[in-house]
Amino acid sequence: DAYLSAIRGANEKLNAYVTVTEDKARAMAKASDERLAKGDGGALEGIPLGIKDLFATKDVHTQACSHILDRFTPPYESTVTQNLWNAGAVMLGKLNMDEFAMGSSNETSYYGPVTNPWRSKQSNENLVPGGSSGGSATAVSAFLCAGATATDTGGSIRQPAAFTGTVGIKPTYGRCSRWGIVAFASSLDQAGPIARDVRDAAIMLKEMASVDDKDTTSLDRPVPDYEAAVGQSVKGLKIGIPKEYRIEGMPGEIDELWQRGIHWLKDAGAQIVDITLPHTKYALPAYYIVAPAEASSNLARYDGVRYGLREQSDDVVDMYEGTRSKGFGAEVKRRIMIGTYVLSAGYYDAYYLKAQKVRTLIKRDFDLAFENGVDAILTPATPSSAFAIDDAEMAADPVKMYLNDIFTVTVNMAGLPGISVPAGLDAKGLPLGLQLIGRPFDEETLFRAAHTIE
Ligand code: GLN
Repeated sequence: DAYLSAIRGANEKLNAYVTVTEDKARAMAKASDERLAKGDGGALEGIPLGIKDLFATKDVHTQACSHILDRFTPPYESTVTQNLWNAGAVMLGKLNMDEFAMGSSNETSYYGPVTNPWRSKQSNENLVPGGSSGGSATAVSAFLCAGATATDTGGSIRQPAAFTGTVGIKPTYGRCSRWGIVAFASSLDQAGPIARDVRDAAIMLKEMASVDDKDTTSLDRPVPDYEAAVGQSVKGLKIGIPKEYRIEGMPGEIDELWQRGIHWLKDAGAQIVDITLPHTKYALPAYYIVAPAEASSNLARYDGVRYGLREQSDDVVDMYEGTRSKGFGAEVKRRIMIGTYVLSAGYYDAYYLKAQKVRTLIKRDFDLAFENGVDAILTPATPSSAFAIDDAEMAADPVKMYLNDIFTVTVNMAGLPGISVPAGLDAKGLPLGLQLIGRPFDEETLFRAAHTIE
């Protein structure tokens, strides 16, 4: 009741929820109470969660905040959300996001932008919460749910977490099942939680993670008790500081935050070492080839026949064209065009194949650092704090928007786990995050180190 009334009070302003499942929430909460009365109960018994609109939820609208999935109501549940309900969690509703998870500001949503609950001390303008999981980050930050599911293809969990003072972890590729999550770029997409603190994120991830016959890229590895890692000392851990992340034009405040993080970990007993990840500078351009290429293929299924919107016509090609023209927003169309271009016969070798090779080099940089004994890598999460909704510079130049992902995309390209943890405020009083990157399937070290920083 408390969360539902908080949503009623604040959602009109924040636009974090696109669907509120009030009746379902009450029914699930009641069932949870009954289980507790009988002495049963899962790890998340009665915990009210918000679900990013990218996750298929049985009998509840799932549109990836796109017009093309108009009123689509899946007859099945995603594995990750089913895992959460099996642990006793309660669904409050579906959360706003960039259309098909393409964006870094939540402004590409068919349902309009989400407003960051944080305000600058210097001006009263509305700020973006980051994206694409902007609704998830806002709902957690504004106490409109106890935790939220999110997904991260190039930073969409970590960047909004950094912009809203919340904790977000993208686990290792394969840690969570992608089954029932609307596909953006299948080799990069991974689900994870956005939560209020590191412990909550650890508790949620434990329940979200699983191997799944329905996703052959999910891995059969035991899911550790992540909560047990929270509070463990970082003494003796080797933390790498990659010099390539000190990018040109980075605001002084971001560098200062990074230095503070280094000192906190050092004071707590970690060993700090300088490392080099020489291919970092190619990560962003390579990502913006690989991700649109996979997206253009994944989005081919939206043809007006199988799901959602259909523009009626007597001619089937006109029907496809009409549906896709009307159903996809500008950013999604841009990605489809870039993706189709880089996959086309004459350009495949020059762009797509080259980007895949660069991806291998990026992964090798990380492998080498870990082989040299580094346990985790500390970087800033974002190159700035939250910016204004309708920021003129970002709107005029999509590449400016893509630059937001400079510190986060490397992690997806290499399939590694990455966490963003709130680490302080900038001069405007806005939250900033630090990122920790870990070895494959070593989320525990990230929880340990992140808890030392928070
Ligand atoms: N901002 C990046 C993009 O637009 C990442 C999105 C994501 O992680 N889903 O592709």
